[in-house]
Amino acid sequence: MIQLYIPLNFLGVIYREIKQSLADMERLFTLLDQHKEVADRPEAKPIEIKGAEVRFEHVDFSYETKRQILFDVDFSIPAGTTTAVVGHSGSGKSTLSRLLFRFYDINKGSITIDGQDLRDVTQVSLRKSIGIVPQDTVLFNDTIAYNIAYGRPDAGKDEIIAAAKAAYIHDFIESLPDGYDTKVGERGLKLSGGEKQRVAIARTLLKDPAILIFDEATSALDSKSEQAIQAQLKEIAKDRTTLVIAHRLSTIADAAQILVLDHGRIIERGTHGQLLAANGAYAQMWERQQARQEVPASSPRPDSED
Ligand code: ATP
Repeated sequence: MIQLYIPLNFLGVIYREIKQSLADMERLFTLLDQHKEVADRPEAKPIEIKGAEVRFEHVDFSYETKRQILFDVDFSIPAGTTTAVVGHSGSGKSTLSRLLFRFYDINKGSITIDGQDLRDVTQVSLRKSIGIVPQDTVLFNDTIAYNIAYGRPDAGKDEIIAAAKAAYIHDFIESLPDGYDTKVGERGLKLSGGEKQRVAIARTLLKDPAILIFDEATSALDSKSEQAIQAQLKEIAKDRTTLVIAHRLSTIADAAQILVLDHGRIIERGTHGQLLAANGAYAQMWERQQARQEVPASSPRPDSED
């Protein structure tokens, strides 16, 4: 009986492992390979990145035939600079990043990187050139080292540590019982929102992409972590072509270009200063966000007596 029980129990463990691995695989595929209708052309070549200038030219796009999401979207991100996109929920901000990854093909217009149409290059080479720090980082049920190296599986331990140091998460990892071998994810150690974002930053640093997408979290982390992470992101965005999907206008005030998206159309563009001076939709959003901001406990209220 015992003899039978052990293998069965063992099989149970294996079954659970396989099920979990499949769940992980599934997530990976939903993230990376969700849209099978996008196929490489037989003559597709690996993308050649020079400065990584990104251009959207008169782009129309719809996920489904009935509802158009983007209308004549036209902008470029000069090589090595940061462009931020703002707009109401559902205006199409994240759709821009999905299109840059070529998760979908557009209906009209073109998207190019250094003059190469995304439809003419291989998807593998395209996705290698773009790093994303998402709103919510998916951690796999594996070690923290694996999670950092994910995206560059050939990375050596020293490279992983260097990336973790640059993302200011090395000391935290070292303080864990198993260090870099600590299991994280749903079945392991649960990391805080800020720690997960740091893992994502370390991942991106290791990948060293020419193009960076930062999908800002809707809910802010506590302000100390937020500031630290913002400072780090600025650092990694330096000299990379960067697209920021922004929710808090205060984090993008120094972007070289800000696009205001409304129901899939760019309705305003410029720097923070230019947009405030224009006194349009952006200026209104800015005023609303400023009004909502809490007055820090340490500073006296402007209307206080003292
Ligand atoms: P948020 O600020 O809330 O993240 P967003 O500006 O990033 O919003 P998108 O995610 O780009 O908005 O979505 C734009 C529109 O496209 C929305 O109306 C959304 O419902 C729709 N949409 C998004 N993904 C899909 C999809 N896979 N299939 C069909 N429609 C979609």
